[in-house]
Amino acid sequence: MAGLISATGASAGLTQQEIDKRVDKLLSQMTLEEKVGQMAQVTIDLLCEGPDVYSNYEPLRLDKNILKKGIEHYKIGSVLNVPSGKALTREKWYEIITEIQNASMKELKIPVLYGIDAIHGNNYTAGCTLFPQQIAMAASFNRGLVRKGAEITAYETRASNTPWTFSPVLDLGLNPEWPRMWETFGEDSYLASQLGIEMVKGYEGENEGIIDANHVASCLKHFLGYSAAVSGKDRTPAILSENMMREYHLPAFQKAIEAGSRSIMVNSGLTNGLPLHADYNILTKLLKEELGFKGVVVTDWMDIVNICLRDRVAATQKEAVKLSVNAGIDMSMIPYNFDFCDYLIELVNEGEVKMSRIDDAVRRILKMKMELGLFERPNTHYKDYPKFGCKEFEKASYDAACEVITLLKNENQLLPLTKGKNILVCGPNANSMRTLNGGWSYSWQGDKAPEFTEKYNTIFEALQQKNKGGKVTYLPGVSYKMDGKYWEEYEDCFTETVTAAKDADYIVLCLGENSYTEKPGDLQDLYISDLQTELAKAIAKAGKPVVLVLNEGRPRIISKFESQMNAVVQIYLSGNFGGDALADILFGEVNPSGKLPYTYPRYPNSLTNYWHKYSEEQKKAGGVYNYEADYHPQYEFGEGLSYTRFEYSNLRLSSSVYTADQPVNITVTVKNTGQVAGQEAVLVYVSDLVASLAPDMKRLRAFDKLALQPGESKVVTFTIQPKELSFIGLDNQPKLEPGEFEVSVGGLKQKFTLK
Ligand code: BGC
Repeated sequence: MAGLISATGASAGLTQQEIDKRVDKLLSQMTLEEKVGQMAQVTIDLLCEGPDVYSNYEPLRLDKNILKKGIEHYKIGSVLNVPSGKALTREKWYEIITEIQNASMKELKIPVLYGIDAIHGNNYTAGCTLFPQQIAMAASFNRGLVRKGAEITAYETRASNTPWTFSPVLDLGLNPEWPRMWETFGEDSYLASQLGIEMVKGYEGENEGIIDANHVASCLKHFLGYSAAVSGKDRTPAILSENMMREYHLPAFQKAIEAGSRSIMVNSGLTNGLPLHADYNILTKLLKEELGFKGVVVTDWMDIVNICLRDRVAATQKEAVKLSVNAGIDMSMIPYNFDFCDYLIELVNEGEVKMSRIDDAVRRILKMKMELGLFERPNTHYKDYPKFGCKEFEKASYDAACEVITLLKNENQLLPLTKGKNILVCGPNANSMRTLNGGWSYSWQGDKAPEFTEKYNTIFEALQQKNKGGKVTYLPGVSYKMDGKYWEEYEDCFTETVTAAKDADYIVLCLGENSYTEKPGDLQDLYISDLQTELAKAIAKAGKPVVLVLNEGRPRIISKFESQMNAVVQIYLSGNFGGDALADILFGEVNPSGKLPYTYPRYPNSLTNYWHKYSEEQKKAGGVYNYEADYHPQYEFGEGLSYTRFEYSNLRLSSSVYTADQPVNITVTVKNTGQVAGQEAVLVYVSDLVASLAPDMKRLRAFDKLALQPGESKVVTFTIQPKELSFIGLDNQPKLEPGEFEVSVGGLKQKFTLK
């Protein structure tokens, strides 16, 4: 083996140029085998002792022979995932990753890059601080809150000896059928862009060039158009024109790349018939050349193999490796064997993949490792992270849960509830930490949550603790089969629950979904389940005030019984403190301020996003064709009530006419005219009134979150650059056309003309 240079010595303090020089020097001393190894990522399960790594055995051990094979023979550069499929202690993480790092540093003098899906907290470490999932965080419309969650996640991930997280998801949550909707920031590309920037900065920190030991590298997922699958099922084909892709799907990735994200993961599906993993135009032309992305492009799980076995675009796995590496893949999440290395070495020797392509990939990987400081500090010790799981972090998670919960209906001001009454808490989500957290929580499907969440409160437990002087009765009515598919349910004390409803002063009915992640979460019917619908209708018949609590990853349709519910509260997947936050909101100790980051549909055949075209909302056409095109969602994007009232006034623009390079300054006054303090997300929409491609009815172009005491008012200012109002034309270029635009904020409107 050609000796690799010792790359020890601090990369901290080095300039970008110096890091690049070190990378080049190291690269120049590496053999082909060493280079290809860096591009290989395997799952930790491959390196662990069998026979059944998924069984719950202790102690968990690395298989010395396979580790040796992986490091010494294949010289692998990266490992991912959690062994045995569920969260480990920090001590165990330290032990396992240190053993891998020691082997790698001894043999290759290059550290391994360990990656994990720490997506709402470091969800694979016991005792971690779990935050609301991304869809919920989006409902806060609060940049600072999202940043803080990512910072704490980064700290706790490093505390588990892991420097890389596969987060954030910047796919748009456009279609509630899609099982990954809850992993997104919702349906709006501006909201996703803004919160994506915060998440990247929260993870990576803002040190020029390096990532310190309190931060981790982020990974943007899943490039590009993943959520546009026509069927709504995970990993199924999308049909997407380039201008639509650039208009809606690209901006969040582009902004996060500009914010400095170190890596990006490729969409596991097909667009227009081509697997993204084999798409040179997307991975090289668009991502690396046009957007200038300098980080690592990693595949999704087994997706080079999938080009051959699943999508049949390559006849052999070797051909699939050739297609994907030539398309621009830098690292293969193989993950179950080392075949990728053998094929790629052959391909380079046969002249099918150029050495320059390999060098480009390896340069990116080594650079990321150096910027993470892994060469001089391959391990981070949990003892150096005393704040892991501390009260301050838990408080941040509770605060986040309070800010995301969204009040959608409050008939006759039923909420807040009076304490000390007789409350019936029912429904399959009433007493479950698993459903509060959703997927990627202690295990991939979230099913292992009960083993780790003893100390946190379910909705029932939180209400019981807070309803001082009153009684709280829990009866499920319907329960999920915890060892079955996520959608399997059964009647559980159905009659008793309905009977108990008659004696209650209030009923808190907790419906929604059990936890699921990715493909297993595919859906056949967007209506909330039949059993839950029956329960809701039967409970409503008791004639007592019903608060419907929705605990779900995507908006399941409730129109068959929504009119019989007196209040509706969306809690999404609000994490370990979701129960406490909800109880405080129900009793009025916290004023809700979340707003929906998606359109809540009323019917399964009417899945329209808020920024739809005019033809989807045509009120009346003249003459005999007096039709109506019905846009009538259950709740609109941006909806969310408060226990106070906010009044908007004095919407002003700095001018009524602008040129393309003049910023549009917008001011508006917001006043809290109610009796309690509250927070208000101020959303600024702009409509392009006429354009050469049918314009969207409106688009979110700015937002801010305000805190206002009763009687207090604030003037808020927003600046929008005209170029941000352009749309992507059929030539796939941004177009800014002269004409009239309309700004709308809190029901007020003002027009301006662009010259
Ligand atoms: C998912 C990714 C995830 C990866 C690694 C895949 O199945 O699509 O989002 O990062 O697994 O766990």
